[in-house]
Amino acid sequence: MSDVVPELLKEIQDDFQRQFRSNSKVIDIYGKIRSHLATYKEANEFSIQCGEMLANSFKKYLTTDVLPEGRMWYNIATRILTPTLRNNYSLITDVTDSAQQIFNEKNGIGFKPITPAFNTDRLNGLIDKVSNAENYDEVSWVMDEPIVNFSQSIVDQAIKDNADFQFRSGMTPKIRRTVVGGCCEWCQRLAGTYEYPYVPTDVYRKHNRCRCTVEYISTEKKQNVWTKQTEYFEEESPADKQRRLLKEQREQQTASRRIAERNAVQELMRQHPDWSEAGATKYYRMNLSRQ
Ligand SMILES: [Zn+2]
Repeated sequence: MSDVVPELLKEIQDDFQRQFRSNSKVIDIYGKIRSHLATYKEANEFSIQCGEMLANSFKKYLTTDVLPEGRMWYNIATRILTPTLRNNYSLITDVTDSAQQIFNEKNGIGFKPITPAFNTDRLNGLIDKVSNAENYDEVSWVMDEPIVNFSQSIVDQAIKDNADFQFRSGMTPKIRRTVVGGCCEWCQRLAGTYEYPYVPTDVYRKHNRCRCTVEYISTEKKQNVWTKQTEYFEEESPADKQRRLLKEQREQQTASRRIAERNAVQELMRQHPDWSEAGATKYYRMNLSRQ
């Protein structure tokens, strides 16, 4: 039996290149990078385009009649998905690096952008899933939307890694998640502006067909709490000071509790798809909040 992979891979890569070169959104985004206007919004759009174009090429060339016995064998899946997704990774991280570089310059920070690592676990997950069925038709959906989702996740990982790095370097990064196209209830609950590291665990996650955006909106040097307080509260009496500290402590506890509850309620609703948000919240408050 001849090896079908070299020919197939070449057809897919050539087709992707053709689409890439004539994609007006891609051309537009490269233009914005050159004029230092690109943000994570553009990086997100770019990743969706790369994912959709690759999924298109897969759809065109991967069919049961070209695959041996109509099956996507493990070694075929590995040799097709690895180079194509790595190519998307390198195209997309070039854009996230540029967006982060532009962001850093605008915010007067000398940091170099952090490039996220290639997610081998996710790649292996896709390879396993697509090679798991006897007939490719049963699993061809894996080569569609999950490819877009994989591509988007590179941008979200870049935001996460850069926010984390800047936080550890003494900054307070803020990120924002925005609902796009109405999306769904789950996404609506996640939407909002958050100050790193107080972000819901799912803030970077996207379900299939989700086009919501996560952006890095600002970053500032952490305020020197002590200097600021002595300047500002010089006149305050010991009793006032104690009241203020207690109030600040309570506010901080409430904020952490709210985030813990939000995460727990989302987890409960994932485990019990038939539960309403109100029901899950009630369950959490009655049973889990004191653990
Ligand atoms: Zn969404």
